[in-house]
Amino acid sequence: MNVLFCVAEAAPFAKTGGLADVAGALPAALRRNGVDVRVMMPHYRGISRQGLQPVMRARSEIGGTDIEGAVWLGAFPNGTPVYLLDAAPLYDRAGLYGEGGRDYDDNLVRFVFFCQAAVVLMRDGWAPDLAHCHDWHSALLPAYLRMHRSRVPTLFTVHNLAHQGTFPAEQFPITGLPHEAFTPDGVEFYGKLNVMKAGLISSHALSTVSETYAKEIQTEEYGMGLDGLLRARSADLFGVLNGVDYSLWDPSVDPSIPARYSTDDLAGKSVCKASLQHDLGLPVDARVPLIGTVARLVSQKGFDLVASGLDAIVSMGAQVVILGTGDPAYEAAFRAAQSRIPHQVRALIGFDERLAHRIEAGADIFLMPSRFEPSGLNQLYSLRYGTVPVVRRTGGLADSIVDVTPENLHLGRANGFVFDHYSTEALVATVGRAIAAYRDQGLWRWLQQVGMRADFSWDRAAERYLALYAVTADRAAKWR
Ligand code: ADP
Repeated sequence: MNVLFCVAEAAPFAKTGGLADVAGALPAALRRNGVDVRVMMPHYRGISRQGLQPVMRARSEIGGTDIEGAVWLGAFPNGTPVYLLDAAPLYDRAGLYGEGGRDYDDNLVRFVFFCQAAVVLMRDGWAPDLAHCHDWHSALLPAYLRMHRSRVPTLFTVHNLAHQGTFPAEQFPITGLPHEAFTPDGVEFYGKLNVMKAGLISSHALSTVSETYAKEIQTEEYGMGLDGLLRARSADLFGVLNGVDYSLWDPSVDPSIPARYSTDDLAGKSVCKASLQHDLGLPVDARVPLIGTVARLVSQKGFDLVASGLDAIVSMGAQVVILGTGDPAYEAAFRAAQSRIPHQVRALIGFDERLAHRIEAGADIFLMPSRFEPSGLNQLYSLRYGTVPVVRRTGGLADSIVDVTPENLHLGRANGFVFDHYSTEALVATVGRAIAAYRDQGLWRWLQQVGMRADFSWDRAAERYLALYAVTADRAAKWR
């Protein structure tokens, strides 16, 4: 089976978040299962041109302007073939989607061209048996394939319903869709163009990145205005939790951390903690619980709770290290907290892969109090690093973290601390439970061991996607 994986970012070539981790690792896991998956993505600035083979030229008239580009074939370091769409005026920029907190004005053109080039690649370059599209950037591809009466089955995966690709109605002609598509049953959404809707309507099957999120997005609370449409497609909507690339995220092989460790010998973790405390200028003290978090600093991730609960958390004696970029208000709030409480708080504003690994390894507790969380990867990384997660019960966090209750402990499945109610009090109380447990060495070691032994590898997720590809093909056959 041949599968074209159309996606706007993929590690290690381009990354702003978890989507890139998925697109970097899942294709390789599927390839190990005998599927010829190839990725298609834009050729952004900084992606090496060495060894790229020319495949074809691409050309489109978009909104009255001729756009030209070329498709090159290369490979990720893990061997997955990747088609890179090269059109310097569109993709050779400092950011992937925008700069300085502002989206690029021509994002619609950029991703319309991407999807139109994918249609041409599938016709003239490489014919897949299935197209797997991800988030709004590739949501127009299923619609274009239907326009062209293609028989190729399409699976559309929602990685985050918060980013739907909405644009002013005036931009609708840029899509090249027939004008009758601009209705509430089509891509119109409260008077605007909603690109994600094209994928949700036109694809043969839909999925999202955890079973709980698949259910949540069919409710008004989490549906971001699309819950009605998602409920209507409930029978075609599936959830598959993301996996972890353990060749990159495992403390026994991680080259970014100062000492390696494993379930059998956690001595290296103490070294990682001391080194992190030292390098960040925090008091080096093994007994102080070190709480870490690495995330985009946006309200989705629950940073309003972290900001309002920070004083209470540090008053319990913890050190708190926050790595992230995003909303300037959160960046400023955490910088101010660091100035106010310099012996206990570090606000590391930036995107730093190496530091992300060092925090996973050096922290005792990992904080993810998300308002919503489609899958979440960092809680899975934390488990493998023996860093016990504190999470809110939502989306993929609910599907991976099991609260420390007497029963869950007894059954050997408790691996973290979970709260339900989205409130500062609930977060602080749950961090309090985690800190109390941290002081009980036997209990803590047990929790670490349960987490470190868990298997959230991509191979497990790949098996689910294989089944989903079969379902997609089946749905496509019935649609004809
Ligand atoms: P999302 O996709 O919503 O951002 P995920 O938990 O699924 O959240 O994935 C986030 C990924 O991005 C993780 O690999 C995380 O380590 C990484 N990441 C987020 N912010 C930063 C940062 N400031 N520095 C380094 N890595 C980061």
